[in-house]
Amino acid sequence: MTGPTPSDGDPLGWPVEDTVVLSLDLECDYGTAIEPNTYEAAAETTTLRTLLETYDLPLTCFLQTELLEAVPEAVATLERASVRVDFHAHSHTHPHPRRADVASEIDESLARIADRFPGDVVGYRFPDGAIPADGYRLLADRGVDFSSSLFPTWRPGRFDNRSRPTVPHEPVSGLLEVPITPLSSAIRIPVSLSYLKLLGRPYWELLRRRAPSVVVFDFHMHDLVPASAADSLSLPYRTIYGRNRWEGVRIFRRFVEELRRREYRFVTMTELYATLEDARSRRVSAVSERR
Ligand SMILES: [Zn+2]
Repeated sequence: MTGPTPSDGDPLGWPVEDTVVLSLDLECDYGTAIEPNTYEAAAETTTLRTLLETYDLPLTCFLQTELLEAVPEAVATLERASVRVDFHAHSHTHPHPRRADVASEIDESLARIADRFPGDVVGYRFPDGAIPADGYRLLADRGVDFSSSLFPTWRPGRFDNRSRPTVPHEPVSGLLEVPITPLSSAIRIPVSLSYLKLLGRPYWELLRRRAPSVVVFDFHMHDLVPASAADSLSLPYRTIYGRNRWEGVRIFRRFVEELRRREYRFVTMTELYATLEDARSRRVSAVSERR
């Protein structure tokens, strides 16, 4: 059910403006909505790579590391892109939160990411926005620098995070949470490809009128390219994913073009994290000087 209710500390807020992170959860088709895992949409990363290269966009990829064996080409295609692609962990098997062995999912996926990809900054995204009660502590104990798992929104029957911060904060010492951005602190609908597809024009209008200054945008390959596994989805999911089913690429392009028109900077989570770390250490030294 719901995640932890840590103190959240004093939210850091954003030290930058007009900045966007495109964050892909590269995972099995439709996440935990169907079993067993299939990878038809994930195998289509060439479509995404073409989009990224066309617009010169860096990508942050939260990788369900089983893909390294299940569909190695999906990952290799992104690695070979001419744009920057950073990889972080998104569990190993993408288990249903109720059946997950959380610690071993974290350990396995972190080990595989460290094995395969260079980079000093380690990030993790829990599947399904389901942050276990001890989740942040488990990450901090393993030296993870940031989590980007929190949907500060409400998902019926899953979580109610409407009182949680929408901006970066430190839920446990040494670990930053960088939430997936909602439209605003009053309208807590995530800025994600799935919601742009689901809610259509009214949501676009809201986004146009009051685009958040910093956006951690979330999307999946199955939002871009539908997979045949959609036919085995339960009715509510089929309705959700069925809307604008074939329009993923067009809507993604429209979103990117809108933010480019507004001169947003596209950065990776690692770059954003560096800015946040900088702001945090400046704040810490300001506090200690006042003492
Ligand atoms: Zn996921």
